[in-house]
Amino acid sequence: MGGPRGGYLTEEEKQNQPKVTGALLRRVFSYLAPYWKQMLVVIALIAVSSVFSLMPSILTGRIIDEGLIGRNMSALIRLILLSLAVTFGSSLIGVAETYLNTWIAEHITYDMRGKMYRHLQKMSQKFFTTNNQGDIITRMTSDIGGVQSIITNTLTSILSNVITLIVALLAMFRKNWILALIGIVIVPLFTIPTRRAGKTRWDITREAQETNDRINGILNETLSVSGQLLVKLFGKEEREYQKYDEANSRMVKLNIRERMAGRWFIMILTTFTSIGPMLLYLVGGILMMRYDASLTVGDITVLVALLGRMYGPVNSLLNIQVDWIRSMAMFTRIFEYFDMPVEIENAPDAVRMPEADGSVAFEHVDFSYDGERQILKDVSFSLKSGRSVAIVGPSGSGKSTMINLIPRLYDVNAGAVTFGGVDVRKIDLADLRSHIGIVSQETYLFNGTIRDNLLYAKETATEEEMIEACKKANIYDFIQNQDKGLDTMVGNRGLKLSGGEKQRISIARVLLKDPALLVFDEATSALDSISEAKIQEAIDPLIESRTSILIAHRLSTILAADEILVVKDGQIVEQGTHAELVGAGGVYTELYETQFSKALAPVPAAQGDGVSEEGKAFLFASDTDPESYGNEE
Ligand code: ATP
Repeated sequence: MGGPRGGYLTEEEKQNQPKVTGALLRRVFSYLAPYWKQMLVVIALIAVSSVFSLMPSILTGRIIDEGLIGRNMSALIRLILLSLAVTFGSSLIGVAETYLNTWIAEHITYDMRGKMYRHLQKMSQKFFTTNNQGDIITRMTSDIGGVQSIITNTLTSILSNVITLIVALLAMFRKNWILALIGIVIVPLFTIPTRRAGKTRWDITREAQETNDRINGILNETLSVSGQLLVKLFGKEEREYQKYDEANSRMVKLNIRERMAGRWFIMILTTFTSIGPMLLYLVGGILMMRYDASLTVGDITVLVALLGRMYGPVNSLLNIQVDWIRSMAMFTRIFEYFDMPVEIENAPDAVRMPEADGSVAFEHVDFSYDGERQILKDVSFSLKSGRSVAIVGPSGSGKSTMINLIPRLYDVNAGAVTFGGVDVRKIDLADLRSHIGIVSQETYLFNGTIRDNLLYAKETATEEEMIEACKKANIYDFIQNQDKGLDTMVGNRGLKLSGGEKQRISIARVLLKDPALLVFDEATSALDSISEAKIQEAIDPLIESRTSILIAHRLSTILAADEILVVKDGQIVEQGTHAELVGAGGVYTELYETQFSKALAPVPAAQGDGVSEEGKAFLFASDTDPESYGNEE
């Protein structure tokens, strides 16, 4: 008790009590069922060890009566040895029980975690964008971890407490029913005030916990890599410190109050618990001296000892309801996740596609993320194998969304996307995704070395292959300049590298994957001109050699493609080559003129040294783009 997960329900828990149905229970037991044999053994062990643990208290009576008062040395030694042996036996059984119990609990949570991880892996992109990452992780760690404690603590303690109580009561009634009755009345009288005192303490602890969470939140936010940067750049150090200080001093007060509540609590507890035995001695003495000559000193001692052993079990059994509700809530939360439908999965008749030509077609595709706002409307285009297309358009027009539909991160609402001539929903998911390489805007690198990140694309890649890929991606010079070369750590999410370096590593990664279709989502954020030139040099030959889709923001990238699609408000509004579109007087011309003609006069050649100065200035999605304002609302 005492912690926030102690013996009392919070208001929130009371309101969100789960509905315990037969189906829920059956489901919970389905996870325990595979281990029923081990569980039976545990139950037997608990029973034996609970009985054994009471034996010394019962034997004390005989030690006093037969050994001490009866002045019988051999009986005294025999009883003492027996008592020791029983205690030893009980502890030994306790060890075996703990081992087996932990083993079962660990295996059940292992099964659940594995199942949950597998399930989460299958969840769509939508699930991860709509659910809070913290919630997902809590479900995986705390909730499933809680299941383990239900099994190792709750179930075990219910069982051993019930057995201890029954055995203790039987033994008391056998000794003397009047004293046993007094015992039954006393125990709840003392446990109830104890619980009340406990609740006060628990309330303070919970408040302290909330404050602690707040402090952690502040720390997480302001001492993280990007958080501290924001604080520095906006000069908010003082304000953040004030916030921190306020929570911190609240914590001090709460901690003191909590300690002191605990102190009173212990004081009351010690006084109360000593009243019980005294009462038994008194009534026992009166009975023994006045009414019942058969009642012995030993009997009274046994009754007092057994009374002492009842407080604990009664107290924990009073908590059972709370434990039960909490456990069921935890299982309900876990099952909620298990029950979330896997939105994107292999069709039963999915076709394997070990080889692919990389061709893509959109046929009258409609798409919406939330079922309300239409993001793509009747989008149709086709990209033949070996060709390349640049998609341009204002920010928020739906360019990345189009790309997401090809590897089935989302499924279309109407129409179809085909890959290699087959509807993507009919292709084996693993095969489909193995043929598509995406260099995204937000490059994600795992915390590890550059080598680890490259091997992620192809586990069997040789050193030569990796170097070759890095050279092609124009990142090899950078790697060579690092002390540790390929074994340089990239830092948390690649934060030790610049945006350009990260993107070039991710290009190398895609090169190792060698996909039939390459998708390049060009960074909208301005890179410095050298970085841009390097990326351009890396990407140009790639585009030449394979089927590619480029979400382009720079003219040089646009010009590298065979064809241009202009997207606006989720529709393809123009389609053609640069030469065809630039003079057509449409959206492309407008974008070209507002963004681009200010920065240059003549249209530069597509290739050559990679990027012209003019190309770098061509940012469709920049802040000066009037279209992008309109669309972002
Ligand atoms: P940019 O050039 O800025 O990257 P874009 O043309 O690639 O923009 P998309 O990312 O495809 O645009 O977004 C199109 C629209 O869909 C935007 O209005 C955006 O707010 C919305 N959107 C994008 N992702 C999601 C999502 N996961 N859930 C809901 N809406 C989304």
